[in-house]
Amino acid sequence: MKTLKFKLYNHKRNRHLKCIVNASGTIYNHCIALHRRYYRMWGKHLNCSKLQKHIAKLRKRNPSWKTVDAQAVQDICQRIEKAYQLFFKHRDKGVRPPGFKKVKKYKSFTLKQNNYKFLGENRVKICGRVYQFWKSREIEEKIKTVTVKRTPLGEMFMFVTVDAPSEPTVKVETGKSAGFDFGLKTFLTTSEGFSIDAPLFFKQSLREIQKANRELSRKQKGSHNRERARKNLVRRHEDIVHRREDWFWKLAHWLTDRFDVLYFETLNLKAMQRLWGRKVSDLGFRSFLQILEWVAQKKGKVVAYIDRWFPSSKTCSGCGYVLDELDLSVRRWRCPSCGSENDRDENAAINIKQVGASTCGRGKVSQAQPAFTV
Ligand SMILES: [Zn+2]
Repeated sequence: MKTLKFKLYNHKRNRHLKCIVNASGTIYNHCIALHRRYYRMWGKHLNCSKLQKHIAKLRKRNPSWKTVDAQAVQDICQRIEKAYQLFFKHRDKGVRPPGFKKVKKYKSFTLKQNNYKFLGENRVKICGRVYQFWKSREIEEKIKTVTVKRTPLGEMFMFVTVDAPSEPTVKVETGKSAGFDFGLKTFLTTSEGFSIDAPLFFKQSLREIQKANRELSRKQKGSHNRERARKNLVRRHEDIVHRREDWFWKLAHWLTDRFDVLYFETLNLKAMQRLWGRKVSDLGFRSFLQILEWVAQKKGKVVAYIDRWFPSSKTCSGCGYVLDELDLSVRRWRCPSCGSENDRDENAAINIKQVGASTCGRGKVSQAQPAFTV
């Protein structure tokens, strides 16, 4: 499965789509309220099919709900069910049950089989009306779902998930592999003796956002100026995301051109947050890995992950000696066993490569490219 993203042209007609998104939001909140009431009354979880039946009945009586496709309504119930299952499974880890959402901020609805049709060229019929979109690529695969999404700026996008035919394009070009370690100051440290700094705009944009935030908080609530400031802030955020992604794509291509197998540690964002004490999600490690996996798959390269419990920083890459403790502030350390001097990040990257090469054997290099053979 993969997801293709298309932008729908701005048009007055788009307000119909926005109405559907709003109605979906109302239905969503209604479902949440039902779940809570049911639990208060019976002391158990309201099961998904019961909810779906009930909501389907309500939908028939309510004209604004009827604008939402029946399967899209089912999809809302299923999304809530998923969120509850996640909550049941991980509640001891602090996962919260799904809650109410502001209708204004509600984002999307999903169509499964009905109520959309691609009419050729760049036209698509969604819920009875024809819209045009920017056709950035052909859709040749079989379509599974179509999701219409509203961004905070009020632009509309269409996400099409399709069956991805597996393309086993196996290429061994460079014969090289490398280990990588994410960091705060240097974005990536490699086992091959060089590192990749995060570009300056990471920091610059942080300042821009802070400024836009201040502007927004100064404006009077409900005023036009405030709405303008809000949009400005959203644009700043989007701008950063775009620039960062652009850089990620370029970096992913650059790396996959140089290496056949790329080893990483399994991301543990929670632990990173504890260690570094700030929003790690800002740095976008996760989205970088997604992009890298995608590019790697296209090019027949492999992204493999080593066990997150391996003490990659504390182990000497020269002799395998493991330190008891290594403070975060220590950037270099001397191995008490073999006497070699280790740079913290580079040492970790080398370890990741070594462990990766020995444990991620043929069977286990499954994450990105199962068809790969060395
Ligand atoms: Zn050593």
